[in-house]
Amino acid sequence: MTTITAPKIHVEKVQQSRVDTVDWDNLPFGKIFSDHMFVSDYKDGEWSNDRIVPFGHFTMHPASMVLHYGQAIFEGMKASKLADGTPALLSPGDHAKRINNSARRLLMAEFPEDRFVEAVSQLVSLDRDWIPPAEGSALYLRPYMFATDEFIGVRPSETYRFCIFTAPVGPYYAKPVRLVVEQEFVRAVPGGTGEAKAAGNYAAALLPAQLAQKKGFDQVVWMGGPNMTQVQEVGTMNIFFVIDGEIITPATDGAILKGITRKNFITILRDQGHTVTERTITIDEIVAAHDAGKLEEMFGSGTAAVVSHVSELQYKDKLMTLPAVEDRKIGPALKKYIDGVRTGTVEDKFGWIVKL
Ligand code: PMP
Repeated sequence: MTTITAPKIHVEKVQQSRVDTVDWDNLPFGKIFSDHMFVSDYKDGEWSNDRIVPFGHFTMHPASMVLHYGQAIFEGMKASKLADGTPALLSPGDHAKRINNSARRLLMAEFPEDRFVEAVSQLVSLDRDWIPPAEGSALYLRPYMFATDEFIGVRPSETYRFCIFTAPVGPYYAKPVRLVVEQEFVRAVPGGTGEAKAAGNYAAALLPAQLAQKKGFDQVVWMGGPNMTQVQEVGTMNIFFVIDGEIITPATDGAILKGITRKNFITILRDQGHTVTERTITIDEIVAAHDAGKLEEMFGSGTAAVVSHVSELQYKDKLMTLPAVEDRKIGPALKKYIDGVRTGTVEDKFGWIVKL
């Protein structure tokens, strides 16, 4: 039997860390980057030269295929510290699998899952002092991959770069959000790229989000299906409803990103004896539930905010108001659970945590 071991990651450390220059009480989101990054390059059918190097610029060929035809995918994860200071990752293997699902859809090279987890682990371990100390803060991790062939014909690239950098982010005090049901633009359709974390999906979502914001909403509810009546997601989160005690989230039908928070929520809820239904849910059902006083909760799920409660929902000319967050049970409990697992105050009974 032969065992294939991942190639060693070459490490070049910074001469002087920048960590002492960080103002931990005023962390702007996504603008401060840690000392190091991981890089690997794909050429001649294999990934090689896995390395951790000082965070810095890439140089790019003007014809780099990613700039023209958009073969670009990414992940979003967080590292936290357990109560005793040990750095921890949540479900890193799921992110490794998902970036490869995205790679398959965009005909990009898959990055081996064990090497993904090893790269994230070594990078976070090296930059462990960048994990912010304050409760609710985290080190945000951004693994991503893009096409690097210097060629302007339309075909899949034969070379790629995979990179991971990290950014300390402050506590995410998510205030309840006001949403509008999007009836004109679509994020994704079954058979499209919605199930991939493809950069282009996010570009296409900017205009509808901006139009919604101009009308005073925080985000849009993405719809699909016949007559745009089926709920898909909210902004960049999956969506959950509690209607008359039933917990419902749209079934992943090819147009919905398979959120890792979504999956973890379903696991927690079922373990606690709740029934969670993954099925089609239409806006008409939500309006009817609201009018009958049975729309108990509506919230988004995602790595960044964990839970984002919905306070108001606009559909055509009808504005629906949801119960106060203080009166909700499911969403707040889920946020507490995941935050607790990340910091070690809630037992990691499903084995999601990787300690570094
Ligand atoms: N849907 C979309 C479109 C997203 O971008 C995200 C964030 N990755 C999610 C859902 C939530 O996924 P996760 O729970 O894995 O962060």
